[in-house]
Amino acid sequence: MNLILFGAPGAGKGTQANFIAKKFNLYQLSTGDILRNEIKNKTTIGKKIDLIINQGDFVTDNIINELLKKVISNPSYRNRIIFDGYPRNIEQAENLELMLNSDNQSINFIFFLKVSKKIIEKRILGRITCEKCKKIFNVYSDKKEVEKHECGVKYLKKRKDDNEDVLITRYDEYMKKTKPVLDFYSSRSYFHEIDGSSEIEVITNKIEQILTV
Ligand SMILES: [Zn+2]
Repeated sequence: MNLILFGAPGAGKGTQANFIAKKFNLYQLSTGDILRNEIKNKTTIGKKIDLIINQGDFVTDNIINELLKKVISNPSYRNRIIFDGYPRNIEQAENLELMLNSDNQSINFIFFLKVSKKIIEKRILGRITCEKCKKIFNVYSDKKEVEKHECGVKYLKKRKDDNEDVLITRYDEYMKKTKPVLDFYSSRSYFHEIDGSSEIEVITNKIEQILTV
C-alpha cells in the first residue's frame, strides 16, 4: 500500500509516520531528505539543487517530480511508500497520481491529522523545562508528571523561546497552503480525517485499525 500523511507542524505527523513505517514495513518518503541526499551524494541533479538553494531560490516541481519518479519506480519501494510532506499543491497531487498510475500503483490511504490552532498553541506555549534534568514537559498535557516531578516543581521553568511565534506562523501557513490539497482529496473513500488532539497512542491505534481492515 501507498499512503499520504498530512498534518500541520506540531500535529504529530512525524511520530505517526515513524510508527506506520516500522509497523507495516513501509518506506517513508520525505522530499526534504531526498533533496539533501542528492546534494550530499553530489549527483548531477544534486549539484543543480545545491546551486538553486544557494541562490536562495526554490527547487522547482519538475526537479522534485523527477526525483520522486525515481523512488516510485524503484522495485524495492514499490507499493510501500508513505508520502510525508508531499504533495504540497494541486499540481503535485495530480502529478503524483499520474506517476503512480503509469507504474500501475495508486494511493491506498490518505490521513489528515487534524489539530486546531488552539491545541497547537497550547502544545507550543505550554512547554516547560526542568533546569536540573533538562526534561521537557507540557503544563497542559503532563499535569500529573509536572506535579510529582522528582527534581521538584521549583526547577520547572518556562523559557521564552523566539521560535514560538515562528511555529505558530508555520501552522497558519501550512493550513492555508494545504487546504486546497485536502479539498482535492477529501471526497475520496480512502481519505481519513483523524483527530490529532488525542493522545499519541489513541491516534496510532486508530490509524492501525484503518490500515489493517
Ligand atoms: Zn528534573
